[in-house]
Order: sequence, then C-alpha cells, then structure tokens
Amino acid sequence: MQSLIVDFLLVGGTIVTMDSERRIIQNGIVAVKNSKIVWIGALDQVGTRFDPAQTLDVSEKVIIPGMVNAHGHWAMTLFRGLIDDCSLESWLEKIWKVEAVIISAKSVVAGSELAMIEMIRSGTTCAADMYWQYDETFEAVRRAGFRMVNGPSFANIPGFENRKDVNYNAAVEFLDRYHGDPLIHLRMQAHSTYTTNQKMLEDIVRIAEERNIGFITHASESKGELELVRKKYGKTPIEVLDSVGLLGEKTLLAHCVHLSDVEIERLAETHTSVAHCPSSNLKLSSGIARVAEMVRAGVNVSIGTDGAASNNDLDLFHEAQLAALVQKGITGDPTVLPGEKVFSMLTIDGARAVGLADRVGSIEVGKLADLVVVDFDSANLTPCYDLYSHFIYAISASNVCHVMINGKMIMQNRQMLTLDEEKVKSQVRGIAQQIRLI
Ligand SMILES: [Zn+2]
Repeated sequence: MQSLIVDFLLVGGTIVTMDSERRIIQNGIVAVKNSKIVWIGALDQVGTRFDPAQTLDVSEKVIIPGMVNAHGHWAMTLFRGLIDDCSLESWLEKIWKVEAVIISAKSVVAGSELAMIEMIRSGTTCAADMYWQYDETFEAVRRAGFRMVNGPSFANIPGFENRKDVNYNAAVEFLDRYHGDPLIHLRMQAHSTYTTNQKMLEDIVRIAEERNIGFITHASESKGELELVRKKYGKTPIEVLDSVGLLGEKTLLAHCVHLSDVEIERLAETHTSVAHCPSSNLKLSSGIARVAEMVRAGVNVSIGTDGAASNNDLDLFHEAQLAALVQKGITGDPTVLPGEKVFSMLTIDGARAVGLADRVGSIEVGKLADLVVVDFDSANLTPCYDLYSHFIYAISASNVCHVMINGKMIMQNRQMLTLDEEKVKSQVRGIAQQIRLI
C-alpha cells in the first residue's frame, strides 16, 4: 500500500480527544494534512501508512484540542493592571475615557498581537473578540495564523457616538469583506442591551438572519446593568434579547451573573450558550454566575477570560480552575463541575458556544488541526492519576510546549513562530507611556 503524504505527524503522545466518547489514546499518533486531522490512533497501528513532511516526537507529552476563549476584548491588554478595585460602572467610565484618546488601528493591532501571544502561550487556539474594528487587526490575525471569532460590534458608547462602523450598511460591507476567511469566523455583536437600542438590535437580527450567522453580547453582568436596562426597556437584558428574537442556538451571552430561574430555563430551552468569566465577575464584584445550576438545566456554558483590563490575564487554565473552585465553594457541593466537565467547557463546549463545534474543540478525523501539546514531564504534573484533574487544578501555562492552528505550527518548543514577541512587547510599552499621561 502506498503511503499517504501528510504535512505533519505528531508521534507518541497521549491524545485527549474530547470526542463524544471522551476517548484517550495512549502512545498515539495524529496525522495532519491541508489544515485538517486526517488520522488518529495508536502508534502500533500506523505501520507505513504515512509519509510525513514533518514529524514531531511528542512522547511524554499530552495532545489536547486547542482551547476556545469564548469571551474577550483582545486589545484591552493595553490596559492590563491600569484600573483595579472599582465597580463595573466606574471601571467602564474610566476605560471609555482612556479609549477615547488611545484607540487607533496601530494601538489595537499591538494590543491584539500581545493578546494572541499570551493566549497561544497558554494553549488557546481560538478566541472571541469584541472591540474596535480595523482591517489592520484582521491582517494581524492572518499573519499570526490565529483563529478569531469576531464581527461588527454595535454599541453607543460615550465619546464614540459618531462611529461610522456600527450601522447596517457598514456591518454588511464588513461581513462581505471577510466572508469565507479560514481563520476569521464572523458573528454579529452588540456590546450590551444598555449601550444599544431597539433599532440596533433589530438591525442585528436582520443581518444575522440574512447571513445565517451567530450573535454575541454581554448580558446580565451586574446589578447596575439590570437597573439601567429596566429603566430603558422595562425588562431584564434576557427578556429584551428574547423579545427581539436574539436568543437561540447561535447566540452566545457573556457573563449571565444575574439570572432568574425562569431565565436559566429559557436559555436551556432556546439552546443559548453562555460565556462564564469568573475572574472578571469577581474582580469587578459583579457577582458569581450560577454555573452549576445552568449546567444542570442543560445550558451550554463555555469559559472566557474577558479583557485583560478586568482579569488581568488571558490564561484559560487559570480561569477554569477558578470556575471549578468557586462553584464548589458557593454551592457547598464538591461534586459539581468535575474536571472532565470543566475541560469540556474549555474545548468542545467552547467550540459549540462560538458556533464551531463541527470544526474545532475535539481531536477527530475531519476536524481542523487546532492542537496543543502539553509537557507532562514536569514537576507540577507528577504523578498523574487523572489527566482532567491536572488540566483544571495543577497545570500551568508554561507546561504548553507546542501549538498548531489550522494545521500550521504557531509555537514550537515555546518559540513563537509567527509573532515577533519582543517587538510587540516593546510597542505596547510605548503605548503604555502615552496612557500614563491621560
Ligand atoms: Zn466583556
């Protein structure tokens, strides 16, 4: 039998597939060709089946699906650690003041590149972003080879009332420009129900339906938000979204800290996904989302870091640990959110939340090759009785050694291959000098 020519063979590692049977393959092989996974299995079954252009020995290592960061504002890495110790409302006020001065294509690209570096280094291969739209950012994403979920973000934010990029025509033109990109997955977005209006939400529904694309927004993050929305619409944020037809299997809601029992049921019934962001919710004292109850009700819950200004890092492993610990603490029930479930929130549930479960989130033949290799020959991961336990409670971002996205190696032996880390850090430090003067 003639050998199949493939681009990559990852040889000898333990494969944590996150497929529907949650198969774990010891001493395995993953074959990658033209951006996709073409074969997975045990090393002793492979024979001379493949003729690889490149082979990577991953013995003593574990191959996991690239993780999905379901909510964030990438370029807010520029404001990391700038404003701590205040409520969401006064935090937003301060952030908007700084953004009005500092936001430009150049600064957003630098902040976004820094975000991608941090996410790649901690095992994230796909992330949702909601921020100012510049073509330069999308060019940077393509250069980096990272997978982005993004799209027109409607908002009426103080200082930016005259933005031209948040109306029906601009959104449609934007979607046309990036349609079909292999790394940029388009969604309609609204900052929130309190920073948009009925007309904007209706335009979003129209565009999302015309294009058959999903929708992302912040919802029910703080008690202050609930009061604002109650004054504006006489409803809760969830009720507003429901009334215009914006709940459903293509909708992803960030936060959902303050939900009634009825609203949790409604999210489950409409197959609406949630991005849980525990660090940001705790740091801004927004509260603690009822994640264990949402999961029990059947809501698809993913995990997001939110922006680095309110977290202050983009490390999903850290976020997952917090998600598990906090739910155990507040429910008084240590059995809620076991390791395997939390790891599925980082991978396949995250992929479902951003509408990509048929393409990423698990290691299966036919899916895109978004793969992360973790070095388990590390003191903090020794011994290992349960891989999922280590992914949630023991792992550190520094255990990630290789990252592949869309079949292309992006980080190898912790060396960034597509992004110039020193240059990006230096650019961001330069922008920080300007921010200090505001
Ligand atoms: Zn956010």
